[in-house]
Amino acid sequence: MAERKKPKSAPAAAPAYPKKTIALVYDFDGTLSPKPMQEYTLLPKIGVEPEAFWAETNKIAREQEADPLITYMHLMYKKAKAANIRIDRADLVAQGAHVELFPGVEAWFAEIASYIGIRAETHGVTLRHYMISSGLTEIIEGTSIYPHFQKVFASEYWFDAYDLPYPKRVITDTGKTQYLFRINKGVEDLGQTINQHMPEAARPVPFANMIYYGDGDTDVPSMAVMRKSGGHAIAVHGPSERQRERCVDLFKAGRIDFFAEADYRRGSQLFSRTCLLLDRILADIRVQEEMWLMEQGL
Ligand SMILES: [Mg+2]
Repeated sequence: MAERKKPKSAPAAAPAYPKKTIALVYDFDGTLSPKPMQEYTLLPKIGVEPEAFWAETNKIAREQEADPLITYMHLMYKKAKAANIRIDRADLVAQGAHVELFPGVEAWFAEIASYIGIRAETHGVTLRHYMISSGLTEIIEGTSIYPHFQKVFASEYWFDAYDLPYPKRVITDTGKTQYLFRINKGVEDLGQTINQHMPEAARPVPFANMIYYGDGDTDVPSMAVMRKSGGHAIAVHGPSERQRERCVDLFKAGRIDFFAEADYRRGSQLFSRTCLLLDRILADIRVQEEMWLMEQGL
């Protein structure tokens, strides 16, 4: 019988500082795309005028004291049914291709990666993109940028449970903050609870390594959590003065580090302000890493 060679034990690798992941976290509607995603997809398909649809949603939600997001998810399919249009999951995903994105969004992921990549101190740093949206997972899946995201947290339907699709997950403004903690704690599997205690030291993506992108009031709870926890937030706005003023208000209220027009192209104000924060995050990671190595006696 041939004697089996003992595998050579690998040389012990030098311990590596574990918190070198940077997370850029985005809202979708108004942040990456000019209008709510339903206005490019379901609403035109079922022939409903967006302004009237949102007004009706808000009216029902107010009168019934219902959650506005559950109300819109319900109303959308009631209207589709009334128009005799059946829309399943595959239809919604296919419609995602019609969603318009702000200038530069498609190239943004590669451009930011190349900015990080050219820096000497970025050795071992991982860059991830996450989305937290009250919009629909199915539509987002159909957009061209979907593959760039480590994880998309968004509202979603059950398609087979009832006569009308039924909300499976609804992400409200305040509910969004749960997903920031999921990124922070590394608990991205939604089947796992997020509420168990995890000491700061055990959390893989510190808030200091995160930047949140949003466009308005619905992002205030997320921005507040980011800023209170040592993270960063940027508000973006469309071209109108009214949209810009909303960002000025967020800035004056101390909700954000920066605001800029939603132009994601390299060389834009948004790009350079993001790079400023990345420079700070990268420097901070290096400082923390050096301190950590000293603690290890290295
Ligand atoms: Mg938004």
